[in-house]
Amino acid sequence: MKKKLIAGNWKMNGGLTANESLVKALLAGLKSPSCQVALCAPSIYLSQLQLLLAGGPVDLGAQDMSQHEAGAFTGEISGAMLKEFGIRYCIVGHSERRQYHGETDALVAEKAQRALACGITPIVCVGETLSEREAGKTEEVVKRQLAAVIHTNGHCISEIVVAYEPVWAIGTGKTATTEQAQQVHAVLRGQLKAASAHADRIQILYGGSMNASNAAQLLSQPDIDGGLVGGASLKPVDFLSIIDAAR
Ligand code: PEP
Repeated sequence: MKKKLIAGNWKMNGGLTANESLVKALLAGLKSPSCQVALCAPSIYLSQLQLLLAGGPVDLGAQDMSQHEAGAFTGEISGAMLKEFGIRYCIVGHSERRQYHGETDALVAEKAQRALACGITPIVCVGETLSEREAGKTEEVVKRQLAAVIHTNGHCISEIVVAYEPVWAIGTGKTATTEQAQQVHAVLRGQLKAASAHADRIQILYGGSMNASNAAQLLSQPDIDGGLVGGASLKPVDFLSIIDAAR
């Protein structure tokens, strides 16, 4: 059976000392998790986390990467570089990158392609803004975002992870109801099924103010295969109870 995946997104948070105590607290509370667990940390800390997580049950992820292979792209980090630090996952197309860095659907699709070429699993984020939801455009928006990734990646699509993150629920404390989330996940599953015979094995995560109180209900939905967790991943006790809910 497909395992669930709980991935923490630290965003631009952390520090050498804080990272060490957070990871130690997490590992101390994590004996043998029944789900997959990952931490997506700022790139500057990936080598520190590689050492702290070595040999344990938590995989390491990055939060972004370049769509290019190598060369004159100042400030960028390539998939090959990430791979050298044992990175298994890379978030691509997070709404904060789409919003503050102008990342388009086509660019996100290219980043997913580059990640796959480097042996990294892209966690492809899709999600609608509040005004798009209020205009009844949720389905249209998430399908458009995912279609770009499917178009560019063809049959490799079965190797990605998708994260449905309604933009209005990220970091706001507002969570999609289980029904709202499951409804969109089912739409995404249908779209993946039309593109790949292996769509059932693709993990579709929910992200947006997932916390210790709402995780179990969200994770009980048939098409919710895990969570992409921002704020709560910085609190070991909360993150551990989300992991515990992902059976
Ligand atoms: C995120 O950053 O992907 C996220 C879901 O954040 P939060 O859990 O804080 O809403």
